[in-house]
Amino acid sequence: MSDASAAEIKEIEGTIQKALDVKDSTSKDARDLYQKAIELADKYFKIDRPKEELSEPTFDPKERQSGLTIPVDAKGEAKAKTTLGPSAFVWDNKPSAVWLAATKLHEYQHASNGVRLRELTEAEREQLKKAGWKPADIDKVKAPQFIIGDVNEEEVICYDAMLKAKDKLGLSSGMIDWIKEKKKEFFKKMPDDKQKKYKAQVPWLGFNIADGAFHEAVGMFAVPAGTDVTLSDGSPMVLGRVTTIADLVAKYFEGNSALFLDWNRKLVLEVDALRIVLLGPHESRQANAARCAARIALVSPHLTTDGALDEIAMNGIPEPWEHSR
Ligand SMILES: [Zn+2]
Repeated sequence: MSDASAAEIKEIEGTIQKALDVKDSTSKDARDLYQKAIELADKYFKIDRPKEELSEPTFDPKERQSGLTIPVDAKGEAKAKTTLGPSAFVWDNKPSAVWLAATKLHEYQHASNGVRLRELTEAEREQLKKAGWKPADIDKVKAPQFIIGDVNEEEVICYDAMLKAKDKLGLSSGMIDWIKEKKKEFFKKMPDDKQKKYKAQVPWLGFNIADGAFHEAVGMFAVPAGTDVTLSDGSPMVLGRVTTIADLVAKYFEGNSALFLDWNRKLVLEVDALRIVLLGPHESRQANAARCAARIALVSPHLTTDGALDEIAMNGIPEPWEHSR
């Protein structure tokens, strides 16, 4: 389930509960308990702190995000410093060792994405001058920054790191869904060319869209009434009656199956999951899409959306905003 044993998880959660029981979260007693839970998380979940991290992340009762990692200049070395807020310690209003470990892993990924020191810009130098700095001192100052330099892409990578570690952490399905949503949110905020670059790294998606097999491959599947479908403007719709994917594409996406795929990844994932159930994981994704689809259709003409195949989909199929390494 996770790299930490049940007893270890209990110990961390007991420590968090004790911290929560302290009336004043800013008191030394509370801080010490939170800090102890932070330290135990790496130890029990076997998480390595990256070399870019300045030190063990610290608890800040006033931090509103669950975690915050900033680039810092540590005596001329580019490093990152992580602070954890109260929400890193609870999931569903209950102490959660898994969530604490997951949050740390996310923040560590921010650090491992890389930090560098750059020269100050003219405007920054001016600011320091105005603040009374001497030119010789200004010359010594460098600005630390994350190497990627795109907040949305950084978040996509960090949420992805959490998903990749789902077994190690023992993430619950609720947590996985939440992380996927966050990842999707940031993925969609990345510039188009970057989104394309990431999508191109997902082979099966490229095959589905590029080879024109969409209608033969998934169009024939029926989506049951009551299924949540996302329309091309992002608004949700509950299907009133059973409809084939091909009809949905024609009716709501002007025949643009790529757009349908973008907005309704879950449905298409399950089609692919079915293919794996029937044909095994080793069948080449490029091989004979129509044949595969026909065999699926014979066995199961209805696309299941009840989530029963989620686990297979999770293990075997990347999502469009997910990238392979
Ligand atoms: Zn983040």
